Amino acid sequence: MSELFGIDLATHLKAIFTEFKKHKSIYSYPDNKIFRGFPGKDFSVIFFGRKAFTSLGPAAGPHTQMAQNIVLSFLAGSRIIELKTIQILDELKIPRPCINIPNVGYNIEWSQELKLEDSLREYLIAWIILKIIEEEELLGIKKGDPFYNKIFDISVGYDLKGISSPQVNEWLKKIMNAEDEINILLASLPDEFAHHKNLSVDPNISHTTTLSTFHGCPADEIESIVEHMIDEHGLNVIVKMNPTILGYDFVDNILHDELGYKHIALDRAAFDKDLKFDEGVAMMKRLEKFAASKNKKVGAKFTNTLVVKNNQNIFEGEEMYLSGAPLHVLSMNAMHKFRSEMSPDFHISFSAGITKNNIVDAVKCNMKPITSCSDLLTTGGYVRMYEYLFTLNKEMNKAECNNIDEFVIISADDKRVKDVNSAGVINAQRIVPQLVNNPRYHHNKNKKEPPKIDSNLVLFDCITCNKCIPVCPNASNFSIPIGKKNFEFVDYQFSNGKLIPSTHHHFVLDYEHQIANLADFCNDCGDCDTYCPEFGGPFIEKPRFFFNEKNYSKYKNDNGFYFTDSSTLRGCIGKSEYELSYIESDNKFKWTNKNFELFLDDNNNLVDVKLLNDIDDGTKIDMKDYYIMKTLFLGIKNNKEIYPAVLLLND
Ligand code: SF4
Ligand code: SF4
Repeated sequence: MSELFGIDLATHLKAIFTEFKKHKSIYSYPDNKIFRGFPGKDFSVIFFGRKAFTSLGPAAGPHTQMAQNIVLSFLAGSRIIELKTIQILDELKIPRPCINIPNVGYNIEWSQELKLEDSLREYLIAWIILKIIEEEELLGIKKGDPFYNKIFDISVGYDLKGISSPQVNEWLKKIMNAEDEINILLASLPDEFAHHKNLSVDPNISHTTTLSTFHGCPADEIESIVEHMIDEHGLNVIVKMNPTILGYDFVDNILHDELGYKHIALDRAAFDKDLKFDEGVAMMKRLEKFAASKNKKVGAKFTNTLVVKNNQNIFEGEEMYLSGAPLHVLSMNAMHKFRSEMSPDFHISFSAGITKNNIVDAVKCNMKPITSCSDLLTTGGYVRMYEYLFTLNKEMNKAECNNIDEFVIISADDKRVKDVNSAGVINAQRIVPQLVNNPRYHHNKNKKEPPKIDSNLVLFDCITCNKCIPVCPNASNFSIPIGKKNFEFVDYQFSNGKLIPSTHHHFVLDYEHQIANLADFCNDCGDCDTYCPEFGGPFIEKPRFFFNEKNYSKYKNDNGFYFTDSSTLRGCIGKSEYELSYIESDNKFKWTNKNFELFLDDNNNLVDVKLLNDIDDGTKIDMKDYYIMKTLFLGIKNNKEIYPAVLLLND
């Protein structure tokens, strides 16, 4: 178990610039998959009066919790980024694992796990990093280019009391005018980035919010929250609808009878409690008028995940939330039905089972943004967003369209239709009813789980398929190019107060690369375990590196490591704790535990011993632990340009 911990702006910048210069990647995301647009194509959309370079983004969730996640989603092509939901209860204890996406998706995670002030800091750091990437033209695109047009959409939850509390009010005021906080962050920049200390950064991080309410939140409370957000904060508001708005019978029929997910158990009580369709329509019509009177706008998001019974023993607790293919069909139906009751101009944003196979149809339905989550947690991770845009480009080429509105209108295939909103409705009339018949969304096509092999993970060596690296939303897993090793070493034994050689062994690394984990970026969500072909979970079995002593001491378990400074690695192997320091002046290593200090030269010859306690004759020193420490120490030190090394060494 570990706890999420964000790092400071300067360290992020150092990591990004160092890694990009040397390896042409950022947090392991490869340069050749950075979305830079397509020649002659305009993917931009207007979102509540502001322009975004694309209409895609990560949904409020695991991809928008930490600064590095937001940067990664930007690289993949996201430009309307729904920040992870903040709320008054900012010290949640969420059972782990909390994500399981073997085919369809299940989760039990919900709002930000960070405290309110830490969430704000992560969002502001991401905002500033993206501005500095633009300023430095790191990606080779001129500053001021529309490429940089991005929108952060705040997400708040979950009831009126919490949302109107002084803490959340204060938080919202700060994110809407973050000048002071931004100046403090810029002032903290070290010499290397000092030329950005007076950078002009837009202090208005957001002008919209997507509202998430708790299950069973009454319509009048939702309405009051929206009015509060408009009145008190001047925000445009999107209300996230639950798929339960379709009613139990409709969902039961689609999920069980039409799509064949008979093993997924619905919870009738959740439908009884939640907002009803007619209530929702009436509420949004009233809110449209209210918003217009304040010169603001409202919209609806389809949809939240679907609450179902936890009948598969995946997580703790009685409920879990369904996402993926079946939710796509339900949410598209909910969207279409709802918009049909509103006007074609009613703003719709979307999230549910988006993949590269349905992104084009989602765009044709004129929804903004189209957000993704579950799909980005599967093999390839953020790169999948880039693939959506690639697919969209191909389809726009076929249709000979150069911008999104034109593409939506042409797709309606009706010469009388000239406006994008009406075209979106016409496209949905054609696309949505067919979804239920598309085998892609049926249980039969969504049964297969990621393959496992008959092997358990251990500290070093695995089949190094690297799947665990991109599936992690937090850039927590990484690869260290250590190289293969095979050498003989000898353990030592105490005899008459001296150390004498005892048993001989081999230290063997069969693979060129080793996998490790940044424990402070890992919230034990479990996603990488699902995609790792071996058993055990990379985030549990692989070396876990911490950024700070407090977290190391608390969560080190039997494979935690921490660089106390750039020449000293502390670590816990099994039940033993050690420290390994490199003494540069003597070109030797000092290896200590509570009983001894051993000094070894560069060729692993024992050159000196100091006893710190009385040690019984016959006591053995397992030198394998020394070689584990040295391997990790040198692995990080010799690869200073990979981002984890920059974060860990911070020199
Ligand atoms: S390392 Fe694995 S468990 Fe940890 S956050 Fe990443 S995906 Fe989740
Ligand atoms: S830990 Fe698992 S997923 Fe990661 S590289 Fe090794 S075998 Fe592949």
